[in-house]
Amino acid sequence: MSENSNIEWTDHTFNPWIGCTKVSPGCDNCYAEQMMDKRMHKVEWGPRGERVRTSAANWREPIRWNARHAQFFAEHGRRQRVFCASLADVFDTAVPIEWLIDVLDVWRQTPHLDKLVLTKRIGNATKRLGEAFNTLMLRDDCAENPLVPWLATWIAGNAPADVWLGATVVNQAEADRDIPKLLRTPAKTRFLSMEPLLGHVDVFSSATGELLHTSGNEYEPGALDWIIVGGESGAGARPMHPAWARSLRDQCAAAGVPYLFKQWGHWHTAVVDGSTGRATFREFASFEQWVSKAQTWVAGGICLDRHGVPLERGEDFMRARDEGGFPVTVMHGVGKKASGRLLDGAIHDAFPVTSLDVGAACGRARGAM
Ligand code: SF4
Repeated sequence: MSENSNIEWTDHTFNPWIGCTKVSPGCDNCYAEQMMDKRMHKVEWGPRGERVRTSAANWREPIRWNARHAQFFAEHGRRQRVFCASLADVFDTAVPIEWLIDVLDVWRQTPHLDKLVLTKRIGNATKRLGEAFNTLMLRDDCAENPLVPWLATWIAGNAPADVWLGATVVNQAEADRDIPKLLRTPAKTRFLSMEPLLGHVDVFSSATGELLHTSGNEYEPGALDWIIVGGESGAGARPMHPAWARSLRDQCAAAGVPYLFKQWGHWHTAVVDGSTGRATFREFASFEQWVSKAQTWVAGGICLDRHGVPLERGEDFMRARDEGGFPVTVMHGVGKKASGRLLDGAIHDAFPVTSLDVGAACGRARGAM
């Protein structure tokens, strides 16, 4: 739960509490619910379920990681990344505001850690930070509490550089709704996690690289600093059409924004090109090609029209023919391990570079002189 995370883009995971309510199509197959509620019966999910705070020892872990900064930096040449949170959502309003205040205090006390805060409730962020501040101001110790100026500075628009703020966005409707909210929330580094990616999403113009969403307020400059894309794994996983992942890769390239392709998930291809050794997706270019090749090419797989809509029966394919749904892509349920992380033969593992990375690298260079 708290160290040596399996998630590709983080070093540690910090869960201040466990439990959540589904708020997005991206939550449909929530692995945290599957594990903590359905399998282990530890925490009941949903609006009536009680969130369970993790142990005091778990809360001390970030302080311990922070203290090991010099050793980690010497070994890896970068700062440690901490994902907050994988089994909960820090901007969930079902927890007492005091819990969020405690989380903010952990973030304040760990300046050597980059906290990667990922939420499906980005619309709550500004309001919850304000509530935390108001609650602190009513406490007897507010004049001496170092969290008060730290949070006041953030709310005033000068966010801490070591807190990266991310929104999960799984389709175009969520992008249109939540990217402006993310841009309106003060943050020095903002990112999107598009996992599970459930549709084609336009974030940047592929011609000019310009961000297609605006917040209409002063926090817009800097815009988006990083995009993570991944497909769904596990029981009931939904397929990610390869064109969706490629499009976001190309949009990020046009915009000069780091792109991290995390995983294909359950659905990929079972076909390898004999000459290049590369995994390759079969595509029916036309209805006629589907008629002649379906039996050999599909073999236990699924077919997606060019918009990613699954086609099962003959009439689905006829409709795709009549409505411009070809080419149709074949995918196979090979599982997360076999599908891997290569997109068109390449690993995409880019991260944003922050002012703290530059400062730390300068410090190291000075130390070596
Ligand atoms: S926000 Fe995350 S933890 Fe909460 S239900 Fe959705 S997927 Fe699960």
